[in-house]
Amino acid sequence: MMLLGCIADDFTGATDLANMLVRGGMRTLQTIGVPDGPPPADADAVVVALKSRTIPAREAVAQSLAALAWLRDAGAEQIYFKYCSTFDSTAQGNIGPVTDALMDAMGTDFTIACPAFPENGRTIFRGYLYVGDVLLSESGMKDHPLTPMTDASLVRVLQAQTARKVGLVRFDAVAGGPAAIRARMAALKAEGIAMAVVDAISDADLAAIGAACEDMPLVTAGSGIGLGLAQNARARGRLGHAATAASLPRIEGPGAVVSGSCSPATNGQVAEWARSRPAFRIDALGLAAGLPAVEEALAWARDRIAREPVLVYATARPEEVRAVQARLGVEAAGKLVEDALSRVAAGLVAMGVRKLVVAGGETSGAVVQALKVRSLRIGPQIDPGVPWTLADGAAPIALALKSGNFGTPDFFAKALALLA
Ligand code: ADP
Repeated sequence: MMLLGCIADDFTGATDLANMLVRGGMRTLQTIGVPDGPPPADADAVVVALKSRTIPAREAVAQSLAALAWLRDAGAEQIYFKYCSTFDSTAQGNIGPVTDALMDAMGTDFTIACPAFPENGRTIFRGYLYVGDVLLSESGMKDHPLTPMTDASLVRVLQAQTARKVGLVRFDAVAGGPAAIRARMAALKAEGIAMAVVDAISDADLAAIGAACEDMPLVTAGSGIGLGLAQNARARGRLGHAATAASLPRIEGPGAVVSGSCSPATNGQVAEWARSRPAFRIDALGLAAGLPAVEEALAWARDRIAREPVLVYATARPEEVRAVQARLGVEAAGKLVEDALSRVAAGLVAMGVRKLVVAGGETSGAVVQALKVRSLRIGPQIDPGVPWTLADGAAPIALALKSGNFGTPDFFAKALALLA
């Protein structure tokens, strides 16, 4: 019985949610794209990972609807549209358009929008999203290469992406618990509001919101609400098996890191690694000029990986990214670098790498597609939001897909040490 069918708009985000559901005791499978075959018999939740965050809205809608159709065919009782905890979107979407399309297809007239992930410092108060102690619009997200977030008001951001009316379940209602939240949602619905941003500043809030949304056909959120929904299933006695700590079989083989995220956290992680370990930088402008940077990176790695793990990165500071984008265009720059890093990853795996850390949501999407991975089993958590996973395929590969802003400064070495 599939309790929860999830549609994630990027690959690291999908892993983040799957990790959360596993922590909540749900047996969870993550698929890369919409599966061809029938659903697995033993999953409480399936997370379909799309790479739909920054593609044209029409395509994101089409892919999301295909995922919805498969999940409903598979018997999913509740649908969860997962986006980033920093509400990453462009002026055109895709959070609003995809939510609209899912609501239309499901014939539902009310849903929530709650990217909060307090454990990672993403909290929502009076509709404003905070990253740590600053507003979203003052955080590193203002310089994101593809989805710069310059407004912290989630109601305003979402309202700009949908013709439906957007409202707010404010903190006072959330503090009142599930019944108060439900009452507030009913009042908003009566006012003609179809999507409600929900304040949340703690895991207790997530649990209360999850409980209030127990019977909501469609929930849209970051990964945080997943914890609340898993608790619902547990409270109803629907997770019969013991909550098994996620474990993976032992993987032998060299480790490596590929990084395409340009977030402040990843810049710090790359700098920390490069202080004492081998690191190769891929220059975006060099790539654009036709220099064989991928081949050079692989030749460099070939001499080293048997001895120690290596890092290949395009990660750069905001001013550098802006300069590259000014020359190449935002989309072209992103694609060029993603393509190069995915070829690096495929080359590393061909050389024998079996433990691969990838930094960056879009980057992870490109890498996972290049490796032709179809599904991921969720393993132990490295840092909040980032587990090790086991990728299916000819040779089993351990993959850690890290969303840009996640992880401590020593994340890369810590992740590889966990599998040593
Ligand atoms: P995050 O998880 O931090 O959002 P993503 O991988 O989703 O990271 O997005 C980063 C984007 O920036 C990717 O499209 C990547 O190809 C691009 N990128 C990486 N390095 C550079 C660079 N040096 N110049 C321009 N764009 C870059």
